[in-house]
Amino acid sequence: MDKNWQNVRALLQKELGAGVFNNWMSSLHYINCEEGKVTFHVPSSFIANWIETNYSEIIKKFFRKEGLNVDTLSFEFGNKQGEQKELENSAEEITLKRDKVLSKAISINSTDIELPSSPLDKRFTFDRFVVGKPNELAHAAARRVADGGSVTFNPLFLYGGVGLGKTHLMHAIAWQTKNRNPNTRMLYLSAEQFMYRFVQALRFKDMHGFKELFRSVDILMVDDVQFIAGKESTQDEFFHTFNALVEHGKQIVISADRAPGEIDGLEDRIKSRLAWGLVVDLHPTDYELRLGILQSKVEIQSKLHPGIQISSGILEFLAHRISSNVRVLEGSLTRLYAYASLVGREVDIDMAQECLADILRISERKVTIDEIIRKVSEHYNLRMSDMISARRSRVVSRPRQVAMFLAKTLTSKSLPEIGRRFGGRDHTTVIHAVKRIEDLKYKDLQIAEEVEILRRMLEA
Ligand code: ADP
Ligand code: MG
Repeated sequence: MDKNWQNVRALLQKELGAGVFNNWMSSLHYINCEEGKVTFHVPSSFIANWIETNYSEIIKKFFRKEGLNVDTLSFEFGNKQGEQKELENSAEEITLKRDKVLSKAISINSTDIELPSSPLDKRFTFDRFVVGKPNELAHAAARRVADGGSVTFNPLFLYGGVGLGKTHLMHAIAWQTKNRNPNTRMLYLSAEQFMYRFVQALRFKDMHGFKELFRSVDILMVDDVQFIAGKESTQDEFFHTFNALVEHGKQIVISADRAPGEIDGLEDRIKSRLAWGLVVDLHPTDYELRLGILQSKVEIQSKLHPGIQISSGILEFLAHRISSNVRVLEGSLTRLYAYASLVGREVDIDMAQECLADILRISERKVTIDEIIRKVSEHYNLRMSDMISARRSRVVSRPRQVAMFLAKTLTSKSLPEIGRRFGGRDHTTVIHAVKRIEDLKYKDLQIAEEVEILRRMLEA
């Protein structure tokens, strides 16, 4: 690390305290200092903005202390080089793990049966799938399956929470396979539809037709397989279909909301069968991936609404605040565009807040009083017990007031409840604390900033 930067870091740490330092400064990666400009790499533009607005003066001041006449800070963010490489490596790893199912001679001749595949969404292609750390493995595996060739992992089992892209990846496999070879017999359907077909076949005594149909495909994709948990005869039929296809070297792709072993009501033999191939999960999105997805959706939306501008910082705000699933993220952007085109003005923070109030509220993380007490005492270098003690000295009482203020503004707990949690204090003490901090926030910038930082940490 650069010697000057090392010293500046030490000064910052001392000046800002460990809490603030770890929260913000530790994400700065010094790149260089040239002609009065210091350049850093940061993980996101949100962090860059925050540091720029709140800490640029102090950072510059400390560089000057080091004898460097710094007048500008510059931030680079986004993917570091090398991430592409990692992605390629993980794809390699998968190849090594490939299991050894070899295609036997295929003895099925029923290729003239019409396949009742569910319609595929045109938008769910690989082109439109944004890859980030949380989904890179699932994406690489799906790509590999779509590339065809000898069957490498069978089945491919994709699992993960709602709206993380399982269906999107399955459709993408289907599209790409179709492009590669239009004659591929592909059947994509939900587990629910599988059951529906099965029940119909039973009812109309056409099990033969059912079996023939499902055994005639080259690729079978069953979405949301957790649906057949607890449905015994459907499971049974699914198991036989599965075995027959695997035996003939046909590719199977399955998705579920959980890992095979965690699906209650699924027979053990099926669980172990499902875990035979490659099981990969889609992790919850992180900030970077959400921002990437939003950026790619904006490109698409801006073609539909050419006149509409999005102020800078909006996407970062959404990626920061909406941490649930991608569907909600996508929906919020669509709604913003619709709203903006109605009222005919640029999308800014106020509009976003107003138009997405319901979504933002739901996404708000539930903060607990315990967390508040813990974070505030960490921030001020106190023990948690100080917060609830009877001590009245200023070093303790001011942070305690801050904590009470945060408890009132960030949780829905009543005043008496908050009082109780702070060592059995009266609710009037809480009222007093809240008032005091509200006043101070206008008079004392230091306090205002501390409260803001704590709030952000708690809501992150
Ligand atoms: P799941 O089947 O896991 O519940 P979906 O595949 O239906 O989720 O995804 C929900 C929505 O989010 C879809 O519109 C999909 O296109 C979008 N989506 C999810 N992940 C991504 C991604 N990585 N890149 C682009 N869009 C995504
Ligand atoms: Mg789905």
